[in-house]
Amino acid sequence: MDKVGFIYTEDYYKYNFGKHHPLQPVRLELTYKLMESYGLLNNSRLEIRKPKIATREELYLIHDKEYVDAVKKYSDNPQQIVGERPNSTFGMGSMDNPVFPGMFEASSMAVGASITAAEIVMEEENEISTAFNIAGGLHHAMRNLAHGFCIFNDVSIAIQKIRVKYPDLKVMYLDVDAHHGDGVQAAFYDDPEVLTLSIHQDGHTLFPGTGFMEERGRNRGKGYSINFPLYPGTYDSAYIDLFRTQVPSIMKRFQPDVLFTQLGVDTYFADPLTQLGLSTSGHYKIFNLLKEYSQNYAKGRWIAMGGGGYLMGAVPRSWTLALSVMLEEELPNAIPLEWITFFEQKHIDEPTPYELRDMNYRVEEQILKNPMFSVRIEERIDAIEKYVVDEVLPNL
Ligand SMILES: [Zn+2]
Repeated sequence: MDKVGFIYTEDYYKYNFGKHHPLQPVRLELTYKLMESYGLLNNSRLEIRKPKIATREELYLIHDKEYVDAVKKYSDNPQQIVGERPNSTFGMGSMDNPVFPGMFEASSMAVGASITAAEIVMEEENEISTAFNIAGGLHHAMRNLAHGFCIFNDVSIAIQKIRVKYPDLKVMYLDVDAHHGDGVQAAFYDDPEVLTLSIHQDGHTLFPGTGFMEERGRNRGKGYSINFPLYPGTYDSAYIDLFRTQVPSIMKRFQPDVLFTQLGVDTYFADPLTQLGLSTSGHYKIFNLLKEYSQNYAKGRWIAMGGGGYLMGAVPRSWTLALSVMLEEELPNAIPLEWITFFEQKHIDEPTPYELRDMNYRVEEQILKNPMFSVRIEERIDAIEKYVVDEVLPNL
């Protein structure tokens, strides 16, 4: 059986905007510890690799030199940003993207990890069909702009990197983060060889305010940008029905050689930054479908990145479930005591989770009890289904 690559280093924790920022590096540490507590990291099919840091040439595959230089300048001396005009700092120095010492190296490490994940899957002698970089998925970063907690766009760079080596490659990028994958969409907006599909909370109600069905790509890339903007509150069964009925038909039509996914788990019903309604059980179903689709429609190649997720008790559970799916190892629902103790020692201001797959009935019931809300969720799903049939599939 094929192997699974897991790209990891403690250097990931250096990607740290400070203790009042929602993107807390401890979520990666908690995830690694949960995987370890369950014994997943000892699975004989797993290969743990250390990433190599991205080079400047690799960053230039997507970013302009002047932007890379600016990141390096503020990284070496964060004080330099004080007093600079806000429109001259490439999005850095804002509440979302404060500058911190070492940000250049920390961001380059996240990029290097995604490149490593992509390369080990593409090189056939490795017999690795799937690789996971939980520090990646920085999908908002633009060519010239730090945006939405993202400095360098690791996903776009990794996609470009393997396309240099394999020029005829057709790449499918599927983004299930609660936020629109705007940076990756922008990077490939003109490109018919990279299809981007982002499933997210409607941009009228959430950052970055884009990702509408009308955004379809440009020039030769027209038809190859696809967006499913969901109504707030969309819950497991509605989401998964949509996923199951629409994603395979798109993949079948496009016939990618490899599937990249951004597995942001801020779709979680209690995530502090978003308003979707999924549970870890819903995430588990999505990961199982992604595995199946990568095998059936993407030549068995699946390169997975992390992404958003701001509830410390949810992110580790969902990504541990993702790795268990990749390894086809079923985990007991009761979380090992060792991890519960670790969680409590970290003084996280949240209830401690005790079960891996949570039951979302309470939330679903709340939504279903409110007919106005549930009607809007269903109407939007119907509209997306019609859009796939009328517009998306005929143009692929
Ligand atoms: Zn997000």
